[in-house]
Amino acid sequence: MSIAFLIGPKVSAEKAHTLLLAYLPKDATILFNFHKHFYWHGQRICTWYDPKCANCVLQDLCDFYQSGRITSLSSTPIRKKKSLNP
Ligand code: SF4
Repeated sequence: MSIAFLIGPKVSAEKAHTLLLAYLPKDATILFNFHKHFYWHGQRICTWYDPKCANCVLQDLCDFYQSGRITSLSSTPIRKKKSLNP
């Protein structure tokens, strides 16, 4: 995935940071929670090698999904978090 639906394609990391901040509230707690959930989304749903598009709540906003190029990529179920205790 990309967050191109928010910032446009081919945007540098520095520019993306600035653009994304403009979308976000200034409240630190809300900003932290957004960061945490976006990070989690990238780790578990929108992974670069196998995005779980079938389980993604951003389908309607995602250009990649809307392009239809994901048909063979989204069949892998979400991996359960490993327990630290055996
Ligand atoms: S629909 Fe797929 S590519 Fe788009 S944000 Fe979701 S997981 Fe990522």
